[in-house]
Amino acid sequence: MSPPSFVRTCVAAMSGYAPGEQPGAGARVVKLNTNELPFPPSPKVLEAIRELDAEALRKYPDPTATKFRTAAARVLSTKVPGIRPEMIIAGNGSDDILTIATRTFVPPSGVIASPDPSYSLYPVLSQIQDARHVGVAWEGDFQLPINALLQTNADAIYLANPNAPTGTIVPLEQIAALASQFAKLLLVDEAYVDFAPPGTTALSLLEAHPNIVVSRTMSKGYGLAGLRFGYAVANESVIEQMMKVKDSYNCDAISIQAATAAIGDQAYAVACWGRVCEERERLVISLDGLGFTCVPSHANFVLATVPSGSVARDLYHGLKQQGILVRFFDKIGLNDKIRITVGSGQENDALIAGLTSLIEKLKAA
Ligand code: PMP
Repeated sequence: MSPPSFVRTCVAAMSGYAPGEQPGAGARVVKLNTNELPFPPSPKVLEAIRELDAEALRKYPDPTATKFRTAAARVLSTKVPGIRPEMIIAGNGSDDILTIATRTFVPPSGVIASPDPSYSLYPVLSQIQDARHVGVAWEGDFQLPINALLQTNADAIYLANPNAPTGTIVPLEQIAALASQFAKLLLVDEAYVDFAPPGTTALSLLEAHPNIVVSRTMSKGYGLAGLRFGYAVANESVIEQMMKVKDSYNCDAISIQAATAAIGDQAYAVACWGRVCEERERLVISLDGLGFTCVPSHANFVLATVPSGSVARDLYHGLKQQGILVRFFDKIGLNDKIRITVGSGQENDALIAGLTSLIEKLKAA
């Protein structure tokens, strides 16, 4: 359909974000396409939701999610001392946080730069802002292309660490080096940090680098993708500006209550992360055995180059026919690969069985 003439030109010209497929409720699929946790959220989350009464729904929620920010500051400051609730902003998923950051720091006609490939929402956010996205190719072995990023003269650099869809990480020293040579916003998107080694987070850089904003989500590590809750951590003066542009009540009463309970149950979360990391190792070994080449991943997914003689798109479709969903990106550099979310042991077994039968069929043909 052609866009009505009264739509903003930048919106009419864009295609919008293409989310991974979400099968309807009750559909019997092995869903390894959108990096959800294969385990339910902490039982404390449902308990906390049950405790809510009608009053909590009748009234507007706390506009700044104070309960969550207090709980998050308590948890984070055990790892990086000095993180206070005033350094945190909550959002309706970390996509909301990324939107808030774009509105706060990126002027119309401005530029967001990020290493490429990375999270496919970043170009979309630029388009909505009537700004431009510049993707800068990763250096060999997914090293941060610091100089090339600086040369874009961007208004903001968005860096996913661990990166999606590769699962690779860049060392903190490189992030610090980039932040110190760049005067504007460096947003470090830590959606997958729970599955990475403890030293991965850029939270410890906030004190020395006030231009860093760290964004986090409850969708992956806490099993709450359906709840929609994320947050950002930065210096207080930065958060104060971001607070001005968020929707007035961007987090609802139920999500604030549930996310607070989830982040408070660290023992449960840490156990889930450990199980995912063990399964990731097992999955990679099985994929290697089938002839795939996996990029070493520090996230809850694996980017796997398909064996020679097979076609990534065909394997994606073949798996889908078997009720197994993975992600295929029809983009140069990615179209010989599939991205597989680390599922439960059973789900990963089903995936490997599905791939084995497809590859055997190919060999027989
Ligand atoms: N950042 C990255 C790198 C992601 O892959 C995702 C998930 N698609 C998000 C942020 C957003 O997650 P959410 O909005 O569920 O917090």
